[in-house]
Amino acid sequence: MINFRYARANDVADAIRQAAGDANAKFIAGGTNLIDLMKMDVERPVTVIDITRLPLTQLQNTAGGGLRIGALVRNTDLAYHPCVEERYPVLSSAIMAGASQQLRNMASTGGNLLQRTRCHYFYDIATACNKREPGSGCSAIEGHNRMHAILGASEACIATHPSDMCVALAMLEAKVHVGNTSGDRVVPFAEFHRLPGATPQRDTNLDAGEIITAVELPPKGFAANYTYLKIRDRLSFAFALVSAAVGLELDGDIIKEGRLALGGVAHKPWRDPEAEAALCGRPANLATFTRAANIVLRDARGYAHNAFKIDLARRCIVRALSQAARGTPQSQSSKKIV
Ligand SMILES: Cc1cc2nc3c(=O)[nH]c(=O)nc-3n(C[C@H](O)[C@H](O)[C@H](O)COP(=O)(O)OP(=O)(O)OC[C@H]3O[C@@H](n4cnc5c(N)ncnc54)[C@H](O)[C@@H]3O)c2cc1C
Ligand code: SF4
Repeated sequence: MINFRYARANDVADAIRQAAGDANAKFIAGGTNLIDLMKMDVERPVTVIDITRLPLTQLQNTAGGGLRIGALVRNTDLAYHPCVEERYPVLSSAIMAGASQQLRNMASTGGNLLQRTRCHYFYDIATACNKREPGSGCSAIEGHNRMHAILGASEACIATHPSDMCVALAMLEAKVHVGNTSGDRVVPFAEFHRLPGATPQRDTNLDAGEIITAVELPPKGFAANYTYLKIRDRLSFAFALVSAAVGLELDGDIIKEGRLALGGVAHKPWRDPEAEAALCGRPANLATFTRAANIVLRDARGYAHNAFKIDLARRCIVRALSQAARGTPQSQSSKKIV
């Protein structure tokens, strides 16, 4: 047992103040990731600051027609909220595809964004891992790497980001509201998570001591033509091998706007502007979807155990886009896309 100090924050300013004064402090929300990491000796905070009583549990419509989600809104409450089900169903789908009901009941919006990779070497302190211990090496590159990245990896780390919810938030172009000692700042979702590069120990561009206060969704939710498709080893309670969140705006059979984010393939939810541009103005058919998938995967690289993911991702993208185009996000349809 490694001792740590427990502290409770009274309000957001108090949480920021406490974290700023302690370089080895960690906030705790649902605790579904942090507690595991502490038990396994991967994370060793000196102080754990409990933020669960902060007033960050609301969903509010924004003046611009979007939705502001407090950082402490539980995953279950978010997925089942009528506003989200109706206006952002891709987010509901993505959340419901993750973890288990018990975990979703505990897990918070902010904690979900900051959950750490599921690379098994990261959790095994007997092995080398640059993310856990910078400079120690990466056991996955020559090791068991079935779950690992095929896009955007580096020589230092080939881990993937594990969240389902974040894939939908990336596709929706959410913004992350962050509080720190100098005030507030807003980070576009695409700039929130990082690629590993030479500093895989940093998952995000959040600075030490900063707190997530909210996630803001823009008005556009792609509620008519969307899909979250998650391919995994079991039908539930398993992390994605590959997942895709897609949204289409259609004018008849022509795509006015197409968005696509992938999970399970990179160190962050993966967007590709060139692939999305290749959807625009094109007919919603198999040829268009295959072309976009090929663009996304043009630089994909597989390792000893995960090369299968490249073809899996291609098929996942095409199927997700086909389902979205049909307006049948979860199911097969008699109307075939050709
Ligand atoms: C067995 C299992 C299976 C799972 N399967 C899936 C899955 O299939 N898909 C999926 O997406 N997820 C899955 N998860 C992960 C789960 O979604 C996350 O553990 C959860 O979302 C984390 O939220 P939390 O509130 O519990 O975070 P915590 O564990 O409390 O915190 C996680 C991290 O976030 C930091 N933090 C929390 N809130 C804030 C804040 N407001 N500001 C700044 N820092 C903050 C903490 O300091 C900590 O570093 C699984 C988890 C388990 C244990
Ligand atoms: S892939 Fe990343 S997290 Fe996994 S062992 Fe290598 S450095 Fe560590």
